[in-house]
Amino acid sequence: MPEVPALTPPAIFTEQCDAIGLKLTDDEVAQLGRFLHLLLETNKRFNLTGIKDPDVAWLRHVLDSLSVFPCLEGVETLADVGTGGGLPGIPLAIVRPDMRVTLMEATGKKANFCIDTAKALGLKNVAVVNERAETIGQDRRYRAHFDAAIARAVGPMNVMLELTLPLVKIGGRVLAMKGRSVEDELRDIGDALVVLGGGEIAVFDALPGVEDEAVIVQVAKERTTISTYPRRPGIPKQEPL
Ligand code: SAM
Repeated sequence: MPEVPALTPPAIFTEQCDAIGLKLTDDEVAQLGRFLHLLLETNKRFNLTGIKDPDVAWLRHVLDSLSVFPCLEGVETLADVGTGGGLPGIPLAIVRPDMRVTLMEATGKKANFCIDTAKALGLKNVAVVNERAETIGQDRRYRAHFDAAIARAVGPMNVMLELTLPLVKIGGRVLAMKGRSVEDELRDIGDALVVLGGGEIAVFDALPGVEDEAVIVQVAKERTTISTYPRRPGIPKQEPL
């Protein structure tokens, strides 16, 4: 297989990694640069991201994905629900080769991009499931299987929690990558937590020390999800909890 060219990060990427205490090896930076090359090249053929400028993509895609790194201590198995072009799952798999990352994506073309990319980068810790999260969450192979589930840009909290919490073991957590306005979404999620087995909620700045709106919402999985959740494909979004 031909070598994948690696994009080079702008200086501000390295500065912002330093600001959040993230030390990357040269090999990791090269792998992240290869991922970004494949993402932006494939994006010319079909839509994976609205961002076309590589320097912006280093910050808005790669750094944003890596901002979750401190929340993954002790996590050995991670589900990335609605991963699209592999975000945040592929950058996280690159910097955590010891963690098994399962990328879940409903759209075939996007899931195939993730499969091809994991192969081209030699990422042995990445698996891809081309299926809707509602179906995966009712599948015995995946339900209550993961130490953590993560999602970025996959709907409001009540919808996102129905797609993610059923996948997580008791004692594990969901990580939602959000903007500061998530406080409004959190106000009304009481019922969702009751039926899905969610518990304590904590909200962190994604990039402390960097002026940015991004936050990470961590929701603990404290009890078993009621067996009828997640509901049938499409229902979580049409009739949010
Ligand atoms: N997480 C990626 C990112 O941050 O760039 C992609 C975000 S994109 C806005 C939302 C993705 O979630 C789409 O690729 C869509 O196909 C996928 N998606 C939406 N609902 C889903 C579901 N119920 N099950 C699996 N994937 C879903």
